Amino acid sequence: MEQPIIDPWESTIKLEYDKLFKYFGIKPFSEIRGKAEEVFGQLHPLLRRGVVFGHRDYDKILEAYRSKESIALVTGFMPSGRFHLGHKMVADQIIFYQKLGFEIFIVLADIEAYTVRKLDRKKVIEYALYEYVANLIALGLEKNKRLHIYFQSNYEVPYYRLIQMFSRKVTLAELEAIYGKLEPSKIVSALTQAADILHPQLDYFGGFKYVLVPVGADQDPHIRLTRDIADRFHAELGLERPASTYHRFITGLDGNKMSSSRPEHAIFLTDPPQQAVRKVFKALTGGRATIEEQRKFGGVPEKCTVYELYVYHLIVDDKKLADIYRACRSGELLCGECKKQAAELLVKFLEEHQRKLEKAKDKVLDYVEPPKF
Ligand code: SF4
Repeated sequence: MEQPIIDPWESTIKLEYDKLFKYFGIKPFSEIRGKAEEVFGQLHPLLRRGVVFGHRDYDKILEAYRSKESIALVTGFMPSGRFHLGHKMVADQIIFYQKLGFEIFIVLADIEAYTVRKLDRKKVIEYALYEYVANLIALGLEKNKRLHIYFQSNYEVPYYRLIQMFSRKVTLAELEAIYGKLEPSKIVSALTQAADILHPQLDYFGGFKYVLVPVGADQDPHIRLTRDIADRFHAELGLERPASTYHRFITGLDGNKMSSSRPEHAIFLTDPPQQAVRKVFKALTGGRATIEEQRKFGGVPEKCTVYELYVYHLIVDDKKLADIYRACRSGELLCGECKKQAAELLVKFLEEHQRKLEKAKDKVLDYVEPPKF
């Protein structure tokens, strides 16, 4: 059976997650969740609740953690717009692993935004600093010696050397088998991503360490390419395959993928709280057509964008979440009341977060050096 092509640069892609297991060999995270909880002593709700649904080689990360070996988390952001709840999912995972003691590498993909998305560079750099880095700080990312945030256009020479060296051992046919038809900007971008993921293992960056890459499921093509490249440079540079986890996308409030390009259906962390409330009240739910039907048949939380807000962001306590699920299914809870509760939690979060964000903006340049031009 022929493998489908996933385009990691197409932001509106809709994925059938089950196919990722079947075609690409991604393993269900559920099989390893219990072990992860035992090894880490705790799990972030996104890992506990099936939002992170797949992995490659996560068992190696668990073994490395158990035997106190060095582990780096590498992930990145394409600073193409405002920071929304979809980005917060990545931030929450970064902060969870930072608290566990992982060394953190965060790439700000300004070159990819410039070459592939064709965005204005100054705007991209401004978004990277005052949307992405500022929000990460406000969410709790700690500045320490084991945190590295960098722009793709402003990093160290050995990182660029890797991109050049990688080009020797991949063919165009191979790249097109993974990504589909490619233009030069995407080829550079794919090799740059491989360097982003693998460079922490070089002596220059502290020597070998295990690497974990938590990403949205659409980014798996980069992981597959990078794992192949690691194999080919194992003898020469000592590179090892990275491990990865895959999370579901958060749904926009209209039922499609949450994206900055459809701002009326996304919750941004800088939304004035009352504007966010209005968006929640217009959100697509799993409720029935009439109150009578809802009382009789119950709602369908699995199809509800408001319930997703609870699962992904608004409720940490699993028991409270289970109560809402049960009340929805039984018809005891109606959507109006449920949206009101979600809106109250969201306002509380946004007010508190935005207070921290104002202070965080002053610290951004302590965390990352912007490109000179
Ligand atoms: S009651 Fe809540 S969880 Fe259930 S469908 Fe309505 S909004 Fe969604």
